[in-house]
Order: sequence, then structure tokens, then C-alpha cells
Amino acid sequence: MNTSNPNANNTIVNLRDVRFRWKRTSDLVLDIETLEISKGEKVFIKGPSGSGKSTLLNLMAGVLVSEAGQVNVNGSALDKLSGAKRDHFRANNIGFIFQMFNLIPYLSVLENVTLPLDFSANRKKSFPSAKEVRTDAIRLLSNLGISEDMLKRPVTDLSIGQQQRVAAARAMIGAPPLLIADEPTSSLDYNTRESFIKLLFSECEQSDITLVFVSHDGSLEKLFDRSIELSSINKASSNANTEVAA
Ligand code: ADP
Ligand code: MG
Repeated sequence: MNTSNPNANNTIVNLRDVRFRWKRTSDLVLDIETLEISKGEKVFIKGPSGSGKSTLLNLMAGVLVSEAGQVNVNGSALDKLSGAKRDHFRANNIGFIFQMFNLIPYLSVLENVTLPLDFSANRKKSFPSAKEVRTDAIRLLSNLGISEDMLKRPVTDLSIGQQQRVAAARAMIGAPPLLIADEPTSSLDYNTRESFIKLLFSECEQSDITLVFVSHDGSLEKLFDRSIELSSINKASSNANTEVAA
């Protein structure tokens, strides 16, 4: 291995001495000395509601910026990029599955899934034309259990479980290097949760996507390569205004 090239190593997420607070006068929400995630890992991060899980994911995605420390994701130092460059970085590198899905209600299933490609040349480049985009969207949706006859349906016609699968397909189209999932199973029942996670895993493995998945629900952690209790890496955890998990 060429050790002089910092991108040649196997690390995709590298946080060092990262501190974050919402306001200059408020307590630290995150104070993390080190967090390293390797390419291809499927990592579970758990913590109760209010412990800073979403804040951490938004730092990794370059939505939020730390007040100190280094946030390195896929070879980019996010703490050193302008807002516009971080937006560009996120479009090219990150698939995000939100707790509430955030699907666009007036678009069809297919239009929702292919939307990220309009914002990312990198994610679009493996598709020579709209035909291949459609074929891959159908492949992804079918792997996630959504049949082709649903493609033209408005997403609002779908069940919650189906909407969550569409949100997952949208996050994974064009194989972004990092998939971030923020409590994506909290509206699914237990059996559906486990099968949904297994579908995510198989697509991540097939497309070389690293998965960072957060939840307050510790019953899911056994499925993952590694599980991290957020309070064990976050020195600010005693400040956190943690509530009882929903
Ligand atoms: P989790 O995702 O683990 O439930 P969050 O990262 O959402 O936790 O929240 C961590 C802490 O930051 C909580 O105390 C929460 O109240 C606070 N917080 C979250 N979002 C904001 C915001 N936009 N402005 C101010 N405080 C916030
Ligand atoms: Mg959250």
C-alpha cells in the first residue's frame, strides 16, 4: 500500500477532537476524540433520544460544521470546505435515509428514486442514458421489495413500509460511497425492521457502500458488523438533555 497517499487507506469516516454546540452559549452536544469507520463497514450507533445521533450524522454529511476538530469523509476535510463545496460533496458522496423519509409527495416512485442524480455528476456517471437509470431504479426497488407496477404511482399511495423502501432506493441510487440512515426503521414493526435492514445490507455489499445507521433501538445492533454506544465516544454525553427513548 502507498502510505504517502492519505486516500489510499481504508478509512471512510475519520473524526478527531470534534466539538459541536448549537449556540455559542449552550453546552457541547458532541465532544468526540476519535471515531473511525472503515470502507465497507456496517456500523450501528445507538443512543437515547436527544443524545446527539442526528447531530453527529449531520456533521458527517457536512450539513453542520464542528466548532473544532477534523471531520474527514471519503478523503475530504469537511471542516475546511465552504458551504457550497460541502453541498457538492454531500450530493456526490452521501445517501441519506431520514426517519420521516422526506419523499417528495408530488413526484412518482420512479421520480423520487432518481432525483439525487440530478444533483450529482458522480452518482450519474455510471448511467449512459435515462434508460439505464430507469433499469437500475427498477433493480434497486425490486431488491427492496417494490414491484415495477408501482413506479408511476404517487409515493403518497404507498404504505409506510413501502415509502421507506423507496427512500432507501433513492439514497442508494448511483452507489454513493457512504449511506447514512437516521432511525429509518422507527415507523416499521419489528419483523419489517429486520428484513428492511437485511435488504439494505445486501445492496450495500453489492455496491460497495459503507453504512452508518443510528437508532435508539438496541435490539437491531446484533445485525451489524460493529455497534457503538454514542455515550462511550462522546465526552459531552453528560450534558445531553436526554429523554426516555420513544
Ligand atoms: P438524537 O438524534 O439522538 O435524538 P439530536 O442530535 O437531534 O439527538 O439532538 C441532540 C441535542 O441537540 C438535543 O439536546 C436537542 O435538543 C439539541 N438540538 C437538536 N437540533 C437542534 C437545533 N436545530 N437547534 C438547537 N438544538 C438542537
Ligand atoms: Mg435524531
